[in-house]
Amino acid sequence: MFKGILIEKDEAGYRASVKDIDEGQLPEGEVTVRVSHSTLNYKDGLAITGKGPVVRRFPMVPGIDLVGTVESSTSPDCKPGDRVILNGWGVGEGHWGGLAQKARLKGDWLVPLPEQFSPQQAMAIGTAGYTAMLCVLALERHGVTPAQGEIVVTGAAGGVGSVATAVLAKLGYTVVAVSGRAEETDYLKRLGASEVLSRAQFATPGKPLGKERWAGAVDVVGSHTLVNVCATTKYRGVVTACGLAGGMDFPATVAPFILRGVTLVGIDSVMCPRAERLEAWRRLGADLDISKLEMISTEISLGEAIPTASKLINGEIRGRVIVDVN
Ligand code: NDP
Repeated sequence: MFKGILIEKDEAGYRASVKDIDEGQLPEGEVTVRVSHSTLNYKDGLAITGKGPVVRRFPMVPGIDLVGTVESSTSPDCKPGDRVILNGWGVGEGHWGGLAQKARLKGDWLVPLPEQFSPQQAMAIGTAGYTAMLCVLALERHGVTPAQGEIVVTGAAGGVGSVATAVLAKLGYTVVAVSGRAEETDYLKRLGASEVLSRAQFATPGKPLGKERWAGAVDVVGSHTLVNVCATTKYRGVVTACGLAGGMDFPATVAPFILRGVTLVGIDSVMCPRAERLEAWRRLGADLDISKLEMISTEISLGEAIPTASKLINGEIRGRVIVDVN
């Protein structure tokens, strides 16, 4: 038996609770992992609270991230004793996830734990941080350099935003953070933001084109915020879009794309090919100031994960949440 969060949905309703789970109930897979830590991402918040249609099968163990040690394996990709990370691949949505003491997974889903990071540090990064790095890699791939000007990061005090701010600042970019929480201004400046703007000025409908300001952007909010970011991006600037914390709609015009040659790059971490994952984790090892992870993250127990999920969805959590499942 092992402990885990189980999401159930039946006549009694949608609910999440910590349960004792029989190992025989684990799904099929090549690799059994003894999980040490998981995390809470926005998607886990939606799954645990039931506020978004994330879970595709019941009962479900949520948790799109995990770090742990391989207990048994029939996969050529890993052997017992290996320390591994998992991010995404539909885990915690359609396949049992990381918010439990054990998981059974496909071997090629797993990435070796980079030696720079402890298990806690890897989860302080988690899917949110790895997605932030995918955004940075996309900006670089499209030729955005620090000399070209300011990079705007929206939802900056959240998980993706905090890591994006820290990494971009370390790489020498001038980062302008956008946040709905004025009280996090000092935190965002300590992460490396040169200026913090209020969320409100981005959240309502704006003009199709505004004054050109951004060389690049990392947007986690979507909706009017993403539209306004595109409308104020400089000629040939690059906007990476990875989130929907403010809404899934995109009420835009094509003006920034056809008149300013702005590029909008979609970022998906879930099905991202393995080679790019390995590169993102390698770059996190090189370009994220580990000392900032302590500032970014808080650690909670498995039991605390359920109430914390509601706070996360309400935008009350700063940075990242690590879950010690043991
Ligand atoms: P968090 O909850 O940690 O951060 C989201 C931040 O967005 C909040 O902290 C807040 O920042 C801001 N925010 C929240 N609600 C609103 C709102 N109504 N309007 C405007 N801003 C808002 O989530 P994550 O960082 O983990 O994820 C951010 C987004 O990215 C989510 O939508 C998530 O689903 C998505 N995501 C996508 C991935 C992909 O593969 N494409 C992978 C990982 C995440 P502040 O208080 O500073 O304003």
